[in-house]
Amino acid sequence: MAKKKRPSWDQYFLKVAMLVSERATCPRMHCGCVLVRDKRILATGYNGSIPGGKHCEDVGCWIVDNHCIRTIHAEMNALLQCSVHGVSTKGAIAYVTNMPCTNCAKSLIGAGIKEVVIFSDYHDTQAEEFFKMGKVKLRRIKMPDLLIDYDLKSFSSAKKTKK
Ligand SMILES: [Zn+2]
Ligand SMILES: [Zn+2]
Repeated sequence: MAKKKRPSWDQYFLKVAMLVSERATCPRMHCGCVLVRDKRILATGYNGSIPGGKHCEDVGCWIVDNHCIRTIHAEMNALLQCSVHGVSTKGAIAYVTNMPCTNCAKSLIGAGIKEVVIFSDYHDTQAEEFFKMGKVKLRRIKMPDLLIDYDLKSFSSAKKTKK
């Protein structure tokens, strides 16, 4: 059997971000964010409604100025998770499936994030200018694969056990 290529740390965390984005509730964009420090995940976030709120998927988007305002964005949700649980985000890396919007970029900078890694651009944003101003390193890496392949056959934990 061919040896399976291990993903790099960047690919690993971006794959996690992609997986997290599957939980998003706004059909206009599915976005995922993973906050990492010392190769440990501090928090994850996807774009979703406020706690207890109705979902875009169920009641439609809430469009103001051509943007859906119903959801809290993935980056913000990840930061808020840290806020709720009292976790410092200082010096952490944010892995995001898409280039953050201007407001999320400013929030990441304000939360002390030192680096942002993305693999997809979002054009209606001034994030790059703010990252430059805030001295936050921005890296774009190639999307790992066209789809996430879990390769369940080689996962011992996914095998059925004989009774
Ligand atoms: Zn929406
Ligand atoms: Zn945003």
